Amino acid sequence: MSRGMLIVVSGPSGCGKGTILAEVLKDDKFFYSISATTRAPRPGEVDGVNYFFLTKDKFESLIKEDGMLEYAPYCENYYGTLRKPVEDMLEKGKHVILEIEVQGAMKIKDKCPEAIFLFILPPSLKELRRRLNKRGTEAEDVIEKRLNEAAGEISQAYKYDYAVINGDLDAAVEDIKAIIRAEELRVKNSKNNIDEVLENA
Ligand code: 5GP
Repeated sequence: MSRGMLIVVSGPSGCGKGTILAEVLKDDKFFYSISATTRAPRPGEVDGVNYFFLTKDKFESLIKEDGMLEYAPYCENYYGTLRKPVEDMLEKGKHVILEIEVQGAMKIKDKCPEAIFLFILPPSLKELRRRLNKRGTEAEDVIEKRLNEAAGEISQAYKYDYAVINGDLDAAVEDIKAIIRAEELRVKNSKNNIDEVLENA
């Protein structure tokens, strides 16, 4: 069985990453890496489902034990990817999706240059503000902080392999599926298929 692909997805808060990925993840060839964070859960978020909600002490001890594949501070909290589940799932042939911010994504680029880097864009900054206000899960000052981050984050999209605009949800999901399918068919990722053809003489 071939090893799975590591797929890194970034985009500013409110761009619709979560909604798009929920659709993509309906296919069980994907595994969503549940991150660890020191931020407080939002209403409805569940520990071990949305995130592993950790204390700062626990998070820092995981960093020391080299248990994090990457981590980054973002809006006054730590966010990080636990190394072990990602490695186990790639080994099992699953495509592992990391939904992480830009600094963490760039650390993955150094460590795992073969990963695929996708950036999700809102149609405009104006639309991003509207979506964050509508979501209503953050206080006014948190929304402002996130919007301030957004323009800087979007300017980092040039470092990614693909930029997908989330104007229409279905179209964005189709775009992502098409990108992943094309990546699966790259010769370096589909050597097993070629071997199989040659073996079945
Ligand atoms: P939120 O607080 O909205 O859930 O997430 C804030 C930001 O942190 C988002 O851009 C999200 O993609 C990013 N994030 C979530 N998990 C991780 C992680 O494990 N590592 C890094 N570097 N960023 C993460």
